Amino acid sequence: MKLFQTRASAGEILSSVEFSQALLSPSSAHGGLYAPTQLPQLDENFFAEAVNLAYAQIALKIIEKFGFDADTAMFERAVKRYERFDDPQNPVQMRKIGENLYINELYHGPTRAFKDMALQPFGALLSELAAKRGEKYLIMCATSGDTGPATLETFANAPGVKVVCLYPKDGTSEVQRLQMINAGAANLKVIGIEGNFDDAQRALKSLLASEKFKERLSAAGLSLSAANSVNFGRILFQIIYHVYAHVYLLKTGELKGEFDIVVPSGNFGNALGAYYAKKMGAKIGKIKIVSNANNILTEFFTQGRYDLRGKSLVKTISPAMDILVSSNVERLLFDKFGAVRTKELMDSLAGEGFYELSSSELDALKEDFDADFCSDAECEKYIKEWAAKGVAVDPHTATCFKATTNLTRPSVITSTAHWVKFAPSMFKALKNETLKDEKSGLEALAAEFNDEVPVAIRSLFAKAAVHNEISAKSDIEAKILAWIER
Ligand SMILES: *Cc1c(COP(=O)(O)O)cnc(C)c1O
Repeated sequence: MKLFQTRASAGEILSSVEFSQALLSPSSAHGGLYAPTQLPQLDENFFAEAVNLAYAQIALKIIEKFGFDADTAMFERAVKRYERFDDPQNPVQMRKIGENLYINELYHGPTRAFKDMALQPFGALLSELAAKRGEKYLIMCATSGDTGPATLETFANAPGVKVVCLYPKDGTSEVQRLQMINAGAANLKVIGIEGNFDDAQRALKSLLASEKFKERLSAAGLSLSAANSVNFGRILFQIIYHVYAHVYLLKTGELKGEFDIVVPSGNFGNALGAYYAKKMGAKIGKIKIVSNANNILTEFFTQGRYDLRGKSLVKTISPAMDILVSSNVERLLFDKFGAVRTKELMDSLAGEGFYELSSSELDALKEDFDADFCSDAECEKYIKEWAAKGVAVDPHTATCFKATTNLTRPSVITSTAHWVKFAPSMFKALKNETLKDEKSGLEALAAEFNDEVPVAIRSLFAKAAVHNEISAKSDIEAKILAWIER
């Protein structure tokens, strides 16, 4: 199966690329993304078999149906990365927490955010595909906190791959910052940016588009790629855990008809995975999108308007969802309305900061999606309320409780991060106090939750920082080149 460009002019024939090409070079010449035009179907036999299989085997069965141009052995090695998770047999942990209410914990990987679910196998795949072609890569990422550590972890010591990670110097939690600046492998470079996440993302985009930068890299034998969630190689692995939710409910006998999935959304990669899972045959009714005060997606899914005008980013306690331009929405537009309409809408967004769907288009979205948003105050209330019931949720996951009242069928909350990554916000929510010392605060919270601080997190505080570099936006390119060419 090939992947197609998401934007086209009227009459233009859609160009397509193989999966390996889309994974290695995710930025397409036409300005859009790469996406499938049809999805393989998972029938009753698939689900009947899946209830007896381990997660990695389910993953391989699903991937096989896509018929991509990477061989089965390569995918087998990629999903072997799930053996690095807390339970090597079962990277995701799903459980029931209330009447018709389930939580699908996706944060049991090495860096304690759901980003590991995709980036672990993705890293193995990319390194292998590059080696097979005899190519070397510089992988760039900009992070608001979770993508950075997960990208560094997956590519640490990967042969033929170097990674540069840009993070906003004061924009991440202390644990997230330590995860990055302590990343010691010689092929990794981490730079703090004087600015916010948007500045880091803009710096990344301008480097990805710079011919001059690419020429310098090429002289050093490197091609340029990116590990953000516009890469379809990540989306593929984000379909699987939503299908797994169906398998789990089938196995426990609790799947009567359809079930809903609740997703705390930012760049919309996670929610898009749920949409593809539904189209493939998972019995998903509604995908409920939850946002924070940056509620542009709520407006989009309830009113059909994507409107950036006059909006600026609000800093919240769920920073991974502090986003206005949600990149993966483009793949949904493409799937629902085609490449010509997608180009029209995306051009309007770029030119006027705005687009609006017709009422029939909006109805088409509402068949699959609901949307709501949650303020920081509500989020803190949910954290406290669920902690009292013995369920520790991080501030991103907590927003989901906004969408789980009066349930008449099973609802699965997609839990995206371990609470240890956001200790100050957890402390404030539970005790209404400012956390002075993050290390002792983590232990206090663990005692409160009857939980443990994972060893990999605890040991971060004892390590010496490897990457102390802070850079003005104007110096980033020179700093990267100096590191590459040293
Ligand atoms: C990345 C992230 C999100 C947002 O996921 P998207 O796929 O970008 O919508 C939500 N919560 C956490 C903890 C994250 O790291």
